Amino acid sequence: MTKDIATPKRTKEILDKFGFSFKKSLGQNFLIDPNVLSKIVMAAGLTEESGVIEIGPGIGALTEQSAKIAERVLAFEIDQRLIPILKDTLSPYPTVKVIHQDVLKADVQKEMEAFFRPGQDVAVVANLPYYVTTPILMKLLEEKLPVRVMVVMLQKEVAERIAAGPGSKAYGSLSIAAQYYAEAETVFTVPKTVFVPQPNVDSAILRLTRRSSPPVNVKSEQFFFQVVQASFVQRRKTLLNNLAKFFEETLDKSQVAAKLLSMDIDPKRRAEALSMEEFASICNEFHNEMN
Ligand code: SAM
Repeated sequence: MTKDIATPKRTKEILDKFGFSFKKSLGQNFLIDPNVLSKIVMAAGLTEESGVIEIGPGIGALTEQSAKIAERVLAFEIDQRLIPILKDTLSPYPTVKVIHQDVLKADVQKEMEAFFRPGQDVAVVANLPYYVTTPILMKLLEEKLPVRVMVVMLQKEVAERIAAGPGSKAYGSLSIAAQYYAEAETVFTVPKTVFVPQPNVDSAILRLTRRSSPPVNVKSEQFFFQVVQASFVQRRKTLLNNLAKFFEETLDKSQVAAKLLSMDIDPKRRAEALSMEEFASICNEFHNEMN
């Protein structure tokens, strides 16, 4: 029996066989620790009925572990040079389909409908390319794909920002954007030594469990996210200063302050202290004003 792709020895053999050289610009840091891989797959709660979406299979290290448990795996890989390698390394796993495409340009919903059974349990399981972590996650969340959970490896600092709650330094518009769609938790952190080549930053596994409905009711999602972003534009400034700037064409500063006070929100607070519920109230209150 061949050894797992993820062992350092087998990875080196594969890279040598195909004369593969890493492209830093594509965030190519491959996992070479089978223990870490099995922990990632475990965190997704896969069963033999599950479908998996992977972004960036590389030479197939994580794909192989998902394919051993799940019913089928759909993987998007941007790098043409990896396509023949994956064909070779994943030949024992006919349930894997690799699509040669930039996931940011892909119609993921359409590919899912074509590949998975209707109503199939689907999880995203991926070691993300770090240069585009946030756009990829936000695309998958905003498109409201029928995905139960996403278990992804990413920069530790970004995982912390996504999972942070009010009052912490890491809390910001990214935390609220992600937590609007999903419950977020950092499952474990990962040392640099489990990758080849080693990345410059520490890594973590983040689990995003999709919510069946948003945790707050907002009159307009677009306006809600605009208000959140505007509130954090200058973190050190008060909520009042940031919002007054955002609404400068329609309201003067004293009107913004009065509105916040009418909601029992102290205008001198900073955005980082506000809960998602408070942002939702601000959105709904000011939305009336805009219409
Ligand atoms: N899954 C492999 C592993 O764990 O060893 C490789 C992970 S590596 C961090 C990221 C992978 O994503 C690389 O294979 C890279 O070529 C691919 N990639 C980078 N940008 C991408 C994009 N926009 N769409 C799809 N794949 C991408």
